[in-house]
Amino acid sequence: MSFWEVPGCKSGVVTGDVAWGILKDAKEKGYAIPAFNCTGTSSVNAVLEAGKTLNRPVMIQFSEGGSCFFAGKGLPNDKGVLQASILGAVVGAHYVRHISPAYGVPVFVHSDHCAKKLLPWFDGMLEADEGYFKEHGEPLFSSHMLDLSEEPDEENIDICKKYLTRMAPMNQILEMEIGITGGVEDGVDNSSVSKDKLYSTPEDVYKVWEALSPISEKFTIAAAFGNVHGVYKAGNVKLQPALLGDFQKHCGEKVGKENPYFFVFHGGSGSEKSDIALALGNGVVKMNVDTDTQWAYWEGLLKFYKAKEGWLQGQIGNPDGPEKPNKSYYDPRKWVRESEITMTARVQESCSDLKNVNA
Ligand SMILES: [Zn+2]
Repeated sequence: MSFWEVPGCKSGVVTGDVAWGILKDAKEKGYAIPAFNCTGTSSVNAVLEAGKTLNRPVMIQFSEGGSCFFAGKGLPNDKGVLQASILGAVVGAHYVRHISPAYGVPVFVHSDHCAKKLLPWFDGMLEADEGYFKEHGEPLFSSHMLDLSEEPDEENIDICKKYLTRMAPMNQILEMEIGITGGVEDGVDNSSVSKDKLYSTPEDVYKVWEALSPISEKFTIAAAFGNVHGVYKAGNVKLQPALLGDFQKHCGEKVGKENPYFFVFHGGSGSEKSDIALALGNGVVKMNVDTDTQWAYWEGLLKFYKAKEGWLQGQIGNPDGPEKPNKSYYDPRKWVRESEITMTARVQESCSDLKNVNA
């Protein structure tokens, strides 16, 4: 069975039972859908182009900082209000909704890490979801992530309960984090967090299940198994995707169901392919990719500049002659496109790592 046979599957943004059905399909078949952090229409298009080429579902996500960037760094974004981040995320989701049917594949639109101090951003997005739901019978976004992993577990889970209760009537998916993803991303620095927080326990994860499953089945868990944001030299934190299997077994025995959890893999950049494969086998249905596609986007431009350096030093004059114009080299469509091409290729590589490819 192809993911296209999930009831209601269509090209463009999917939400609710369709989105959840695709995640179930992923878990059953042992693939995961990569989620790429996007900061503007260019990176969104690069992800969609890869999805179209592969004829596979993709996920587009906006971090709080990425949302603000989408709206434009020239706008005010006051602490505790985050008006530009709200606007950017909403505009980004609308852009994805309008453009993605043209690319012919199912697309999830998601928001990334939301810490406690960023909750006004979350509330703003949910207001937009509720407004969209009133008109169209589905939320604007497929899913949102709450990341209260820096708070005590009890508070983390309580806030997740509260928000999932608000999201459930819209059939929207909540991603939550328990334990901490190490490293640095979107300006959040967890590189000095104590080591035990970097590994969740079966009991920690089961507490999430107990609290959230009575509200809705539509939640995913970013459990910590030694994952770290960014690409670093091998350090003393070791990725242990086998832990995810222990969590599944622990919960599965209690609820009488095999592999009950839907896991999300954060900090997958630079991971060994064998670790990714083990994570997929243990119920990872989504993996976030940011650092690797950031590099790919830059690398396209870097290579272009190196190859065309002589044509990029002024508006007139290049190795072909002192009066030759350079407009066709410095036109942003030329060099932004070079970034898109290398990013699209990297998106395809992530899809292939996650077995999100047609056999
Ligand atoms: Zn993350």
